[in-house]
Amino acid sequence: MKAVAYRIERGVSIDATTRALREAGWGGKAIAGGQSLGAMLNLRLAQPEVLADLDGIDALRAVREDADAITFGAMCTHAAFEDGKLPDPTRGLMPAVARGIAYRAVRNRGTIGGSLCHADPAADWVSTMPLVGATLRLEGPDGVRTLPAAEFMLAAFETQLAEGELLTAITVPRLSAQAQWSYRKFCRKTGEFAHALVCALRDPARGVERLVIGALDGAPRVFEGEGLIASLADASQRTAWLAEAGIDVDPARTTQLAEMLRLAVMDMETPR
Ligand SMILES: Cc1cc2nc3c(=O)[nH]c(=O)nc-3n(C[C@H](O)[C@H](O)[C@H](O)COP(=O)(O)OP(=O)(O)OC[C@H]3O[C@@H](n4cnc5c(N)ncnc54)[C@H](O)[C@@H]3O)c2cc1C
Repeated sequence: MKAVAYRIERGVSIDATTRALREAGWGGKAIAGGQSLGAMLNLRLAQPEVLADLDGIDALRAVREDADAITFGAMCTHAAFEDGKLPDPTRGLMPAVARGIAYRAVRNRGTIGGSLCHADPAADWVSTMPLVGATLRLEGPDGVRTLPAAEFMLAAFETQLAEGELLTAITVPRLSAQAQWSYRKFCRKTGEFAHALVCALRDPARGVERLVIGALDGAPRVFEGEGLIASLADASQRTAWLAEAGIDVDPARTTQLAEMLRLAVMDMETPR
């Protein structure tokens, strides 16, 4: 199948692009790396009248380093994180996550912003940005707003983005030197979307202990609390905890999830 006919708007600024998207209403769509949207267009799962190409907007590739955080433009590619071309506030987590996304051709074009906006529950940034406590900047014809990454995704392929709005930047807090993380993704082949996904972060200097369960039917689930990770060291506690947390997946995925949880807890108990 081929895509429906659409008009391309080559964006040169955020303002002009959000205005063009607003004029097109829900018939307008942004295109970033095209790695997810390209397939959706060809399958006619997306049938936009106007495609706003973000590739020419330099502001969407800007990176700003502050004392306590780094802000990445939404068009930063997975490959740029993987290759260490961007500063890393996460003590190796972001490059490690980027390296496990798809294969190199996809990583060359695919962007962190596109991945968050596409909101595939099994995608990697969708779970890891809530883990690190990232904040997202959304800009639209009505102004700018920021919100925690953990609140951005509402359901599978559904986000808080309003008509005409773009995700323009992602601010990631700098982890302290004592911070420990784990990122465990179960998939049959390297680079596949996750079948089960667990990531954990402990950063005592910043008062953070967090666990994220991803690749569920909807948005990832975020859990916090001092001592949470150590409390899951025992296998029977892990199974009971998954049930108590209301994580209701089929038996095969429960087994995969319990194993990823075991490995994540083990990583956290092993000093890096
Ligand atoms: C074979 C294959 C394997 C893959 N495996 C994985 C994997 O293992 N893990 C993983 O995480 N991902 C995987 N992906 C997805 C990949 O990471 C994509 O790059 C990503 O999902 C979309 O990013 P993109 O920049 O290409 O966005 P696009 O495809 O251009 O856009 C995706 C959606 O987001 C919207 N959008 C994009 N940017 C913005 C913005 N700044 N503001 C508002 N809306 C925006 C678009 O309108 C569209 O709806 C895979 C993709 C392929 C093709």
